[in-house]
Amino acid sequence: AAKGQGKARFKLFESTMHERLVERIDREARLRDAVPGGELRLHLQPVVDLVDRRMRGVEALVRWEDPELGLLPPAAFIPLAEETGLVVDIDRWVLVEACRTLRNWRDRAPDTAPSWISVNISAAHLELPDLTDHVAQALAASGLPADCLVLEVTETVLMSDIAVSSTRLEQLRRLGVRIAIDDFGTGYSSLGYLRDIPVDVLKIDRSFITGLVDSTRQRDLVTAVVQLGHTLGLRVVVEGVEDEAQLAVLVAIGCRLAQGYHLGRPELAESLAGRMATATVLV
Ligand code: C2E
Ligand code: MG
Ligand code: MG
Ligand code: MG
Repeated sequence: AAKGQGKARFKLFESTMHERLVERIDREARLRDAVPGGELRLHLQPVVDLVDRRMRGVEALVRWEDPELGLLPPAAFIPLAEETGLVVDIDRWVLVEACRTLRNWRDRAPDTAPSWISVNISAAHLELPDLTDHVAQALAASGLPADCLVLEVTETVLMSDIAVSSTRLEQLRRLGVRIAIDDFGTGYSSLGYLRDIPVDVLKIDRSFITGLVDSTRQRDLVTAVVQLGHTLGLRVVVEGVEDEAQLAVLVAIGCRLAQGYHLGRPELAESLAGRMATATVLV
């Protein structure tokens, strides 16, 4: 009986594996159609100046509107896109769309449009020498000034091949775009790269903001990182601000720029632009 049970269990295991494989192949085929099928959507989240509470920049965050599954967050498809190399097409679409969006916004509403838009760059794309051309093409096609574009690279990606990263970032910097380190503080970072790599913006990871109000230690840590960034002449953006109490602490420790649900959730450009047309202050 034990043997029979084992066999049955193995069959079950096999069929689960089979289902997973079929699902993955199906998902991959759908994802392949996402860019040409016009199924990607760009959501923008404001980056806010804490002193005057005005929007200074926006971050472009991609979503996939699958005809059957609905609106999917990056976590539901970026890992598969990375495995299959499709992420480069997605990143390219986001780059073009982001540049076009900010250019139009600045043309229509120069007084309320943000000064910059930031775009997340995947590891696979950073490795490609073509990245520089892709960025140059997106800027040329939209007519957006290069200094209005920020490229976000996570610390982990940056550190995985520091030689390739610094070469690529140098090339990008020469175009006039700015570079941000995303999720700062979550990777195994040797601070030495801040000396060797051309960086303009530090984005302190959301995990440092949770607990900011109750923990002195956490507050001291964030204070030190913000000061480090400012001392190096970098812009520092704090991610994941979810309430007014966190905001008050951040202002007290001298943090100038922040992003988070409390300041604005990611939303479509038209809807954000519409809100900004009637209100200059977000919170
Ligand atoms: P990220 O670049 O660190 O983006 C910030 C993420 O935190 C976003 O999630 C945003 O919606 C979320 N967030 C913002 N404020 C808050 C807050 O107050 N609380 C909480 N809990 N979350 C907040 P999202 O849009 O799901 O994106 C997740 C990640 O997917 C991004 O992390 C980025 O690494 C990646 N991603 C997004 N768009 C793209 C893209 O166009 N290309 C590539 N390669 N990756 C992308
Ligand atoms: Mg980012
Ligand atoms: Mg981040
Ligand atoms: Mg992140």
